[in-house]
Amino acid sequence: MPAQRMDGRRLAALYREKVKEEVLELKTQGISPRLVVVLVGSDPASLTYVQNKVKAAQEGAIRSEVLRFPETVREEELLETIARLSADDDVDGVLVQLPLPQGLDKEKVIEQIAPEKDVDGFTYQNVGRVMLGQSRALYPCTPQGIIALLDAYRIPLLGEEAVVVGRSDIVGRPVAQLLLSRHATVTIAHSKTRHLGEITRRAQVLIVAAGVRELITGDMVKEGAVVIDVGIHRRADGTLTGDVEADSVREKARLLSPVPGGVGPMTIAMLLLNTVKAARLRRGLPFHAPTIMFAE
Ligand code: NAD
Repeated sequence: MPAQRMDGRRLAALYREKVKEEVLELKTQGISPRLVVVLVGSDPASLTYVQNKVKAAQEGAIRSEVLRFPETVREEELLETIARLSADDDVDGVLVQLPLPQGLDKEKVIEQIAPEKDVDGFTYQNVGRVMLGQSRALYPCTPQGIIALLDAYRIPLLGEEAVVVGRSDIVGRPVAQLLLSRHATVTIAHSKTRHLGEITRRAQVLIVAAGVRELITGDMVKEGAVVIDVGIHRRADGTLTGDVEADSVREKARLLSPVPGGVGPMTIAMLLLNTVKAARLRRGLPFHAPTIMFAE
């Protein structure tokens, strides 16, 4: 039987509704969460991402705006702005859209964000907290969205073999840590891994974030596995595809996240969730992470 499609779009909409309820609830207490997105330069893809984030935040009743800088901005000016946002009590979330133009030191810029407002989860404090399994971490959005997708379909992780293809700072490494915190047995494969198929075939849960179009084919997947495709690639005809060759993998997997409509929408939903989390935690209010599950 072909794999069931994991509906990230529907799940993301449910999370966004939940976040909006939380925001409206916070507003009754006089707290109005605010997210500031910093964009440097005029890369069209980055501009689209940023506009989508701000629009989604506004739809979720979160105050949100883009702060734009030209590519020629001096690093000190950028650092000063981020320091000011970090210190501003009327700002809950600060996000710097990556990649930054050449000549700007990404690490310096990210580390300037106050960890309690780092809604992308990229500062070393949040990376460390994720590694230590601390729930007050602001988890990076894509890995958090992947876990939410697995939870929605009630995928058991405890003791299960999980394989992550990719070791990037924003997806591969942190998702591996989150899976480990959920007691999966985790293997990370990467560009230097030998015999990739032998490793991916062990996975009950396979997460693919390699940035290589249709790298994973059906023969590399265990019968009945759950496969999450993080990759996004545009074909010549304008349609999108992922890091997984969907047609052949669908014949082996039990569940497969589609591209588009899988992980992508979840990433934005988790950004909004992080903004609410940041707004609550930095005021000493408790935050209970919602878990939304689809009916069996
Ligand atoms: P990256 O380029 O930073 O990292 C890719 C990783 O894959 C590297 O660690 C590399 O070692 C590994 N890799 C490369 N070739 C490989 C191979 N042949 N075999 C095994 N491993 C290999 O990429 P990233 O930022 O993690 O993103 C990965 C993909 O996910 C990209 O297509 C990106 O566009 C997409 N992405 C999607 C979202 C989303 O919200 N849907 C978010 C982030 C990234």
